[in-house]
Amino acid sequence: MKPSNCIFCKIARKEIKVEILKESENFIAFPDANPKAEGHTLVIPKKHFVTLLDIPNNKGDELIKMVKDISSDLLDSKKADGFNILMNNLTPAGQVVFHAHIHIIPRKEGDGIRTIS
Ligand code: AMP
Ligand code: ZN
Repeated sequence: MKPSNCIFCKIARKEIKVEILKESENFIAFPDANPKAEGHTLVIPKKHFVTLLDIPNNKGDELIKMVKDISSDLLDSKKADGFNILMNNLTPAGQVVFHAHIHIIPRKEGDGIRTIS
């Protein structure tokens, strides 16, 4: 998949309009289009990397900070009483969009959500 055809590259380049929840130098966060729960958020690198292994180590702090900030906002806003951090890497693990992304899934007691199926 070339970056020119990649849906998440188009979102990162702002060619496809989404609600941007957070943005930093190298990452952007926006709502998942098919949320497992209200507030289900994706964090993606702005550059086209396929899996976690392709994201440079020196971007790790920036990435984890964004994941933590969103998770914290979900708890503070009471959209979540807990949260799952999930990443599907390559086809056998369920990756469908081949631009690396981290799922943040808000959880509530007894919500019945299955995060790995
Ligand atoms: P996966 O690759 O299995 O982690 O799944 C890709 C995720 O991206 C799914 O949860 C989709 O709902 C989500 N998704 C796909 N296209 C879009 C889009 N244009 N905007 C927001 N989320 C999307
Ligand atoms: Zn891409």
